[in-house]
Amino acid sequence: MADSDFIQALNSGIEQIRADGLYRRLRVIDSPQGRSISWNGRNYLNFSSNDYLGLAGHPQVVEGAAEAVRKYGAGSGASRLVCGSFQIHEELESRLAEFKGTEVALLFSSGYAAAIGTICSLLGPDDLLVSDKLNHASLVDAARLSRAQVEIFPHNDLDQLNSILKMAVSTGKNLRSGHRRRILIVTESIFSMDGDAAPLREMVELKEKYGAWLMVDEAHATGLYGNNRRGRIEELGLSDRVEIQLGTLSKAIGSSGGFICGPSALREWLINKARSFIFSTAPNPAASGAAIHALEIIGSEEGSRRVSLLWQNVKQLRDGLKLPFSEVQSAIMPLILGAEAAAISAMHALLENGIFIPAIRYPSVPRGSARLRITMSSQHLSQDINLLLGFLENLLQKDPQA
Ligand SMILES: *Cc1c(COP(=O)(O)O)cnc(C)c1O
Repeated sequence: MADSDFIQALNSGIEQIRADGLYRRLRVIDSPQGRSISWNGRNYLNFSSNDYLGLAGHPQVVEGAAEAVRKYGAGSGASRLVCGSFQIHEELESRLAEFKGTEVALLFSSGYAAAIGTICSLLGPDDLLVSDKLNHASLVDAARLSRAQVEIFPHNDLDQLNSILKMAVSTGKNLRSGHRRRILIVTESIFSMDGDAAPLREMVELKEKYGAWLMVDEAHATGLYGNNRRGRIEELGLSDRVEIQLGTLSKAIGSSGGFICGPSALREWLINKARSFIFSTAPNPAASGAAIHALEIIGSEEGSRRVSLLWQNVKQLRDGLKLPFSEVQSAIMPLILGAEAAAISAMHALLENGIFIPAIRYPSVPRGSARLRITMSSQHLSQDINLLLGFLENLLQKDPQA
């Protein structure tokens, strides 16, 4: 095998990835997620996790997972439509619906699977998907796989969105007999790599004006915004005006799995049509048990306290950095360094000082906009942030581009 055509083809591709400064490797962590993580026998202050509220390692959440495993076992055994639909899945779904204030929810094995299954079940070649330029890869891949026509508007650009919709409505009435062309606008509410917010209120107005549908990915907003911490849709009072809400259990909720919230017809449709739901084994009982307990915490006094701590930490870092971050606060703060090599060397400099912030490069972000992506958690202490600020100050002075 060693010098087979197969291995040679892979190796020459890998060489190219290295030459482009885009080579990736895995880091093997030997601790739970938390304020710090341990790797290669050393502790690093962790500014890289999406476990924004510190729930992934929370004793009650961990116990929720353990209880579920004791009751239902380690694996789900089959797809939900065969014999893998457990009572714990239904319980989590009704809690998610209640939490989000929607009629129903449906679980998927991941947020990625939820995006793929939902978009592909709703759109076909006659339909149009209108997508923000910076949407997450799961939404991009779903768009491609659906074979719908795709129009991409520049990030958060409402004028361009308006033009696309206007054009689509005037040209695309009845393509096939009996098929009214569907138009689906897709956006994140808080963008995963930039940490900025979509103008959801204006987008809702546009989609209503043109008779389009709206799908909002709240992966980085669920648990963090609004009076009930449902997300940005709640905070902006748009709960009744968004057709499809996508969420993940794997970020602030501290578990894993994805979900869709919306009207009950949507759940019924997805159970019948979403291939990533139908042809995939039901979510792990442990993940569902953990998520139920995490939602309980998020809805409690403790959840409210954790969210306040998170925003307090975000504020401390923002004030310290004095950079023009977006108006809406978020737990994601990118320091854009530009060149891939600059981001990598900044990451290594921080690692030497016991701080882990990942360098994010193409294809996660556009080429030439490589960055350090700082994520904040409610678990960080004020002293952690001061330490980080000290090192960043040095680093940014050395790199006038930042
Ligand atoms: C993480 C993420 C997803 C995918 O969720 P997983 O549960 O991790 O598969 C989808 N959309 C956005 C914006 C994300 O950041």
